Amino acid sequence: MIPTNRQILLVSRPIRSAALDNFRLVETPLLPLEGGQIRVRNHYLSLDPYMRLRMNDGASYAAPQALGHVMLGATVGVVEESRDAVFAPGDKVLAAFGWQEYGIARAEELRKVDDSRVPLSAYLGSVGMPGVAAWMGVHRILQLEASETLVISAASGAVGGVAGQLAKYLGLRVVGIAGGPEKCGYVIGDLGFDACIDYKLDSMLEELHASTPAGADAYFDNVGGNVLDAVMGRMNVYGRIVVCGRVAEYDGVNIPMRNPGLILDRRLKIEGFGVMEQKGWRTALEDLSTLVATGRLKFRESVAHGLEKAPEAFLGLLKGRNFGKQLVKLT
Ligand code: NDP
Repeated sequence: MIPTNRQILLVSRPIRSAALDNFRLVETPLLPLEGGQIRVRNHYLSLDPYMRLRMNDGASYAAPQALGHVMLGATVGVVEESRDAVFAPGDKVLAAFGWQEYGIARAEELRKVDDSRVPLSAYLGSVGMPGVAAWMGVHRILQLEASETLVISAASGAVGGVAGQLAKYLGLRVVGIAGGPEKCGYVIGDLGFDACIDYKLDSMLEELHASTPAGADAYFDNVGGNVLDAVMGRMNVYGRIVVCGRVAEYDGVNIPMRNPGLILDRRLKIEGFGVMEQKGWRTALEDLSTLVATGRLKFRESVAHGLEKAPEAFLGLLKGRNFGKQLVKLT
């Protein structure tokens, strides 16, 4: 029997919300390697909110991806076969093979990773792109001081959870916002935030007020929408907001800012950023991997099992059904 690779393709664009029929699972034969190529068995696939933006045709911070192609995305896996001198079977690698079980690449498209101190899957989360986004926001963009209060949305997630712990190490008061009591309990009890507000409760505004008695000096925004409006109302004069993501609006929802006048009234500085364009990745990754290896940076993962579960897990991520970094285990 010819060995096969299973892949998930993007076959149509969402009309409003993404749906299972936007994706198709296909099987293709595994091709023999050419000189200089390396075959990797992917062990984990990362599911990330930005993928929803790539499913659209329009302009956003994530460029559209072509129909009929494998869904894009980061993977970690193990080299199975190599026709390159630098990579050998058994090497653990980070790659961007997308939603498929195997990938073929050249050496310059792979990065070897060491899973002796940091679990392999963490290279897609706390010691990967989401962790670096948190690190850049906290250490490079927000210009935080120990006496300040920082609010973080999607606080139990891949980015938010890291951002809050880094800010606690800087000595700030850190207030999370998350969906539901279980996530809030984790944010305070496990991640060490000072408070966490369940934005799904009617009492959200009162709780935000009570948790930020001196107002908010900085806001790490992962969601946009109504949560951004609520936090804007608590910002102090000269407050800073880093717009990392707007996940509440990715899946076909448009929520206009309710009170843009606050930007001038409070002299707010609002800065969006794309982590891939940031300088200083090496420093960030060294810092994050040391923190994870020494147990000082905690994280949680939601793991779906099997490539065929990826579309459902991805749609769940856009609705907050994940609890921590969303992954798909492929082996
Ligand atoms: P998460 O692990 O935080 O998962 C997404 C979370 O968003 C969900 O768990 C849910 O948490 C929350 N959410 C979903 N829908 C809503 C909604 N309608 N209102 C409020 N919250 C909602 O994802 P990541 O940590 O990977 O990403 C967080 C954000 O950071 C995303 O917006 C992403 O696009 C962005 N990002 C940006 C980067 C950049 O370069 N600028 C790089 C990496 C990520 P809950 O249940 O608590 O609501």
